[in-house]
Amino acid sequence: MTGPLLDIRRLSTHYVSARGTRVTRAVDDVTLSLDQGQTLGIVGESGSGKTTLALTLLRMLPPAAKIVSGEIMFEGVDLMKKSESEMRRIRGKRIAMILQDPMASLNPLFTVGDQVAEPIRVHEGAGRRNAWGRATELLKAVRIAAPERRVREYPHQLSGGMRQRIVGAIAISCEPRVLIADEPTTSLDLTIQAQYLKLLRDLQRAHNLALIFITHNLGIVAKMCDQVAVMYAGRLVEAGPVKQIYNSPAHPYTQALLESIPRLGDSRKRLTAIDGQPPDPSAPPPGCAFHPRCPKIMDRCRTEAPPEFRVTDTQTSRCWLSAPVNAVRG
Ligand code: SF4
Repeated sequence: MTGPLLDIRRLSTHYVSARGTRVTRAVDDVTLSLDQGQTLGIVGESGSGKTTLALTLLRMLPPAAKIVSGEIMFEGVDLMKKSESEMRRIRGKRIAMILQDPMASLNPLFTVGDQVAEPIRVHEGAGRRNAWGRATELLKAVRIAAPERRVREYPHQLSGGMRQRIVGAIAISCEPRVLIADEPTTSLDLTIQAQYLKLLRDLQRAHNLALIFITHNLGIVAKMCDQVAVMYAGRLVEAGPVKQIYNSPAHPYTQALLESIPRLGDSRKRLTAIDGQPPDPSAPPPGCAFHPRCPKIMDRCRTEAPPEFRVTDTQTSRCWLSAPVNAVRG
């Protein structure tokens, strides 16, 4: 296979209300790619479309949502052309996902061992004994103490940190190529959070996984990711290598996000909050969706939506300020 492992091209997913009168562009014309072994952070406030984008990649959307355009090239093949039964073989085996609430992912009626072993039995046809052996190994891999005992326990007998590790064990059980982690540390306290992030990084390196990390926390992205994609109102407003974007953010929204996080050793600088609220995704403002909150607004921003501009070979921005000089008229 040549080219990126995952190549998303001009992808759009809309939610349509029951009467068909309201359309929410939850994911709007998103293009990005990811190589084997890389980590991509997808960042944005609540409602920016991050989780819908992840569910679109797996084609696991609720009935009201529809992928209206675009391609999802995975290992050189367009997932949009796969049948539902082919997608079932890809989900969990080739592309796996860790959800933010481990209790929502675990069935309280089954033991940990049954739940970790299930994808191994379904996708690889392993017998119960073999699959349970693998499940115990996987618990060890995610650093659960006394795995032989824990494998026989039920989710309610484990701490929140342990449950999140179990969800991680299930996600890597069939050695996927891509792991999507959707706010996986939200329910954990800070110490457990740091341990879990380290575990994810170690698993990624050990299995050469491509990791997509969905978060509202830019501090976590700085620690975890090679690439970052910033979403606002369903659109990708800036993307590129983490170091480059943290050092020279081009989009005013990214600049505002970065000014709102504490930086080590920068005690003089005051943190600033972003004025205003994200737009209602079903009724975004005309022009640039960020314009009501943007400190650098120009006249054209109120009526003309900026296209994606190339800031450097590796960095893009959807802002008129990044347009070639003769295209900018405020
Ligand atoms: Fe601000 Fe205009 Fe750029 Fe939008 S296009 S981010 S309103 S300067």
